[in-house]
Amino acid sequence: MNCIETKNLTHTFSGGETALKDINLQVPQGSLYGFLGPNGAGKTTTLRLLLGLIKKQKGEILIFNQPFSTHRIELLKQTGSLIESPSLYGHLTAAENLRVLQKVYQCPEQRINEVLEIVGLSHTKNKKTSNFSLGMKQRLSIAIALLHSPSLLILDEPTNGLDPNGILEIRDLLKKLNTEQNMTIIISSHLLAEIEKMVTHVGIINKGSIMFQGTLDELHLKQKQTAVIKFETNDPEQTARIISANGFTPVLLHGAVSIPVTEEKTVAGLNKQLVQNNIEVFQIHHVKNDLESIFMDLVKNDAQ
Ligand code: ATP
Repeated sequence: MNCIETKNLTHTFSGGETALKDINLQVPQGSLYGFLGPNGAGKTTTLRLLLGLIKKQKGEILIFNQPFSTHRIELLKQTGSLIESPSLYGHLTAAENLRVLQKVYQCPEQRINEVLEIVGLSHTKNKKTSNFSLGMKQRLSIAIALLHSPSLLILDEPTNGLDPNGILEIRDLLKKLNTEQNMTIIISSHLLAEIEKMVTHVGIINKGSIMFQGTLDELHLKQKQTAVIKFETNDPEQTARIISANGFTPVLLHGAVSIPVTEEKTVAGLNKQLVQNNIEVFQIHHVKNDLESIFMDLVKNDAQ
């Protein structure tokens, strides 16, 4: 079952700019879904629509299989979110900040200690938040989002501006929430490397359109499919001609000739032919694109 599903979600701002075009998001229940895209791609607009923070114009939003438009309050009660850093009261401690919101949300008082424990801030609960690091502030913000025990968490770039250690802390926290509490989490980011190590699913958005959506394994498969065998020789043109005569469509780039990954025996055969044609073969290597370049390719192809 999908925890979040959108159907042809489209949004145009008053200036006439279409920020989202036919977004069909599918966030499976229990997934940790990375919503990825460069700046201005439409991530925040999508997440705001999911939370009813901006009015939906076109398309459908289903959360827990129910239309958001008719079950808004009920669905928001099951959803925790962090869209913009909430204004924390700097002169109050973490526990005091949480107490203010616990009263607003009318949730049990014991939740304060529970969420402090979950985000790993129990030991600093008496420190004023103005003295918190950015990472601690983000964790406290997540604690606030968890106060009412939601089963879905929507986070907009929670790792933005954090140092590697802060990113690691948020990553561990979200993984824990996802696996130990079976919480479905959608987290946006503009850096694949930041979320790649924690997510189970990925959605890539660019210029308001979804470019890829699937499991992390499916994205890895795409990575495999774009891997190449690269030949570096003293005569790239002649190398390309010989390889081409063997039924391949080689790509000549920066003085190297690439073909899609093929069997080792075939590579050995090509190498033999090159040598027999007096070509000096310097290197033959298997080049795997990292996920970041797959992401860049998806985004770049769309820009052309
Ligand atoms: P970032 O990572 O920079 O936050 P994003 O992927 O979250 O980017 P959005 O903030 O959703 O992108 O913006 C998508 C597009 O909509 C952008 O071109 C942005 O300029 C435009 N946009 C966003 N909010 C408004 C608004 N209130 N009025 C007009 N245009 C807007």
